[in-house]
Amino acid sequence: MGKKEVKAKQGDGECIFCKIGRGEIPCRKVLENDNFIVFYDVNPRTKGHCLIVPKKHFKTILDMPSSLYGEFLETAKEAAFKLLKEHRAEGFNLVLNNFEVAGQVVGHVHMHLMPRYKDDGFKLCVG
Ligand code: 5GP
Ligand code: ZN
Repeated sequence: MGKKEVKAKQGDGECIFCKIGRGEIPCRKVLENDNFIVFYDVNPRTKGHCLIVPKKHFKTILDMPSSLYGEFLETAKEAAFKLLKEHRAEGFNLVLNNFEVAGQVVGHVHMHLMPRYKDDGFKLCVG
């Protein structure tokens, strides 16, 4: 998308999402731009469940520079349009777990995009 590449404040480079971002571990890619990659979750909770992931390592949204927030959501929006069309979904949830106590398992910030379907049976804790 021609946006300036943003340098990470911290990085271990060894986490699984860093490796996916560098193409060292395969994934089923939905889309990619300068700073983000979107790929299907290996354990989908709904059909088309994917993850929006910065290519640089930030543990949570608090570590990520605010200058990337707009592009983070724009990438989620582009992925949502694509998935709604491809999977004929009727809606979607965006979820961001921050820190282990809130359910974060992979310590590299990522936004879940879960397409929703009538009677899909999926339940979020809120709503
Ligand atoms: P969290 O609980 O940290 O918010 O979510 C991590 C997500 O990453 C989980 O939904 C899990 O299924 C997914 N995941 C973990 N490892 C991999 C992987 O190697 N490849 C892909 N595509 N997804 C992964
Ligand atoms: Zn990482």
